[in-house]
Amino acid sequence: MNRPRTLVWFRADLRVGDNTALVHACRRAGGRAGAGVVAAFLISPGEWKTHDYAAARIDLMLRSLVDLSGSLARLSIPLVIETAPDAVDIPAILTKLAAKHHCAELHFNREHELNESRRDEAVLAAFRIAGLQAFAHTDQVCFEPGTIRTGEGRYFTIYSPFKRACFKQWESIGGTPSIAAPPAQAELPIKASPIPQSIAGWKSSVPPDRWPAGESVAHDRLKSFSLKSILEYKDRRDMPGIDGTSQLSPYLTVGSISHRQCIEAAIEANRAANPKLKGNPLEAGSPGPVHWISEVFWREFYIHVMVGFPRVCMHRAFQPATEAIRWNENPKHLEAWKAGRTGVPIVDAGMRQLLRDGWMHNRVRMIVAMYFTKDLFLNWRTGEKWFMRNLVDGFLASNNGGWQWSASTGTDAAPYFRIFNTYSQSEKFDPEGTYIREYVPELRDIEGPAIHDPSQLPGLLRTRLDYPEPLVDRVKAREHAIQTFKALR
Ligand SMILES: Cc1cc2nc3c(=O)[nH]c(=O)nc-3n(C[C@H](O)[C@H](O)[C@H](O)COP(=O)(O)OP(=O)(O)OC[C@H]3O[C@@H](n4cnc5c(N)ncnc54)[C@H](O)[C@@H]3O)c2cc1C
Repeated sequence: MNRPRTLVWFRADLRVGDNTALVHACRRAGGRAGAGVVAAFLISPGEWKTHDYAAARIDLMLRSLVDLSGSLARLSIPLVIETAPDAVDIPAILTKLAAKHHCAELHFNREHELNESRRDEAVLAAFRIAGLQAFAHTDQVCFEPGTIRTGEGRYFTIYSPFKRACFKQWESIGGTPSIAAPPAQAELPIKASPIPQSIAGWKSSVPPDRWPAGESVAHDRLKSFSLKSILEYKDRRDMPGIDGTSQLSPYLTVGSISHRQCIEAAIEANRAANPKLKGNPLEAGSPGPVHWISEVFWREFYIHVMVGFPRVCMHRAFQPATEAIRWNENPKHLEAWKAGRTGVPIVDAGMRQLLRDGWMHNRVRMIVAMYFTKDLFLNWRTGEKWFMRNLVDGFLASNNGGWQWSASTGTDAAPYFRIFNTYSQSEKFDPEGTYIREYVPELRDIEGPAIHDPSQLPGLLRTRLDYPEPLVDRVKAREHAIQTFKALR
């Protein structure tokens, strides 16, 4: 059978710029007579359900696919959509697709989660068995997990030395430059599939204009952030009441933009602010870009951790000793937390931002997760799942990393005795209560510091608020958490 074409399978990399698999598929097709490139995307409801994908994330993904299909059409690459009821169906669907469209080989970018890696291994094996070639490319990270190790050859479990090793490697190989979109390919007599507007079982309540979709939207956001806000990032990143962070995480999650493109933009901003910059631009120069680059590398760190310690993909604690903890089971507290009715304004604001926007500011993610695991002493796995089911940027490596950090069960975790005081966090990072007032309208008219703790208001004022009393006594809860962790030692 003459199979001159190549197939490229898109997943969490919905872009044509800096897409390693796409570029390789085009290069390989380029040399063959009558060749061309066919793109595929699989709607995979079983897999998405198992992984708790949020409706907001699916919605952003579908809208990003419309944008991707248009960009691919301009390169004469048709995007065909198939449905794979479950992950086990994927190898057969892809080999059939390759046969149907006369494709000799398949290219895709590696995903590093355990189930996804197993699925990809099954796809590679199915192609081998069918006598076809398949190539998995490293794209989601700067460095293949396993290539950045400690002096003893182990995976890093602490962020700072991991980052230093990455930066050193980056410098020694002259950076990890992004790659341009490929040129237009040979025209094919294949029609692109229509993109569904929604998928049964996922109805997003987040308005689509909160997260407009597409590669150019993501680039515009990166551009405007790196022109100005990035220089003030270090000072403003922890203040949820101001727009001090990039809000690029949803676009990194669906892959409308790559982390390399983000790093490049930050380096450019760093050089523009420091024309005589000497040394490694990832760590020397202006504090804003340098700090932002460091945050972007947290994502890389957690991906490496997930590969090095796959138990974190299986709902297990990174620190095995903490598996012995008996977390509280309290459905009333859990529901109050989910609904943003805990009586702690900064926590409630965060939880309501999550429901309204499908997103939450990083500082507040830490506060609500620490409140959940230390004040309410609920199981971090339940909080992790709720986040995943609601976040437009839900990403296993970062979500698990963030939750296990907050629960003091993870790598480089918050020491168990250093428990955030939610009220002082609120006073420090939302001093005027701007963020609280935005998301907890019933507290809008409270004046002064009581915005952080309305339970301190006189009784009559309090009853008029229709706002709950705090669920737990903070001091006792803190003591209980510390004693429980101490007993594990
Ligand atoms: C409990 C908890 C759960 C989290 N769940 C997720 C998640 O599901 N998906 C997700 O992308 N991030 C998650 N994070 C990390 C972080 O909160 C978000 O990446 C960040 O808030 C996104 O906003 P931004 O794009 O404006 O970030 P910026 O501050 O502009 O940072 C730029 C990028 O760097 C990366 N980044 C920044 N901080 C972190 C971090 N601490 N860990 C990993 N990557 C980081 C993100 O990709 C982010 O988009 C979680 C953090 C915590 C504490």
